[in-house]
Amino acid sequence: MRKILITDEIRRLAKEYADNLFTKRNSQFIMPEDGLRIFANELRLHGKDNYATYVDAIIDHYYEILIIEPNRFDYYKNVYFNTLRDEDLLQHVNGCPGNKKFYEVIVDKMRYDAVQKKEIRPYIKKLGIKTCVYCNASYAIATDDNKATYQVDHCFPKSKYPFLCTSFFNLQPSCMHCNQIKSKKDDYIYSMYTDVPTELTPFYFSIDSRSIIKYMLTHNSDYLRFKLKSNDDENEIAIRHSDFFHLDSLYTQFTDAAEELIWKGKIFNAAYRNQLMNMYNKKIAFGMDDFKRFYLGFYPDSKDINKRPLTLLMQGIAKEMGLK
Ligand SMILES: [Zn+2]
Repeated sequence: MRKILITDEIRRLAKEYADNLFTKRNSQFIMPEDGLRIFANELRLHGKDNYATYVDAIIDHYYEILIIEPNRFDYYKNVYFNTLRDEDLLQHVNGCPGNKKFYEVIVDKMRYDAVQKKEIRPYIKKLGIKTCVYCNASYAIATDDNKATYQVDHCFPKSKYPFLCTSFFNLQPSCMHCNQIKSKKDDYIYSMYTDVPTELTPFYFSIDSRSIIKYMLTHNSDYLRFKLKSNDDENEIAIRHSDFFHLDSLYTQFTDAAEELIWKGKIFNAAYRNQLMNMYNKKIAFGMDDFKRFYLGFYPDSKDINKRPLTLLMQGIAKEMGLK
């Protein structure tokens, strides 16, 4: 849920991804441009020239497409990929192998499967993201061939933007829960990238103070209630995000984590903190950031939200409980 600022360093990473894409594959591996060329010919043979032109546009702009930034996605769609409408992409036309729809064949030919299994992994690792960028409630980590890997989602859906299916800035780590929701509905876009520094943390969590009172009276954490919030007047950005990914119901399952922070908020004080800090500095001395993490039990800095599930929730509640 913490966004990544598109800096020159991130652009360099995208370029490194594009430059190295499939370079370590053996000669049996069909490169995207070759597969696409064969597909375009097949479509022409069947008189599907407008479809073939769409494929040609991918071949012509292949490298740029790999590194274009989200604010240019629609521009590319409107300028270079306007020979087909959204509904045309969903058709099975003569020239498409098997029963596949046109956009599915594009995704195959662009070798998205190979990108997701291997090519994008090291870059997500370099970005330091381990959690789902949509919910921050789960890790976006799975295993493949007994190796830890990431579950990846297309920010702009491949059914409408198949040419972006292997683009660096269109691939983001996602958990199973959010991935499933996105596969059923594609009318909401949340990019983990931004070029606006003030938009890095669009959301925060707030706890309902009345629910804390109810919890203290009952010792039942099910009464704890928190809401995703955003900084716009009507909270519309957060409501839309939360509704789309069902975060209200999802987060009812994490009240025990909030409970621990309520205890800490009531008991931890400056004297206890100082005493612990002295002991920490004598025995460990890894610096203030690590001390804060040790003391609070979660990553306290907003730049680390994507490192561990529920960090956004913990940060929001700790702030409201006066924990520092
Ligand atoms: Zn998720």
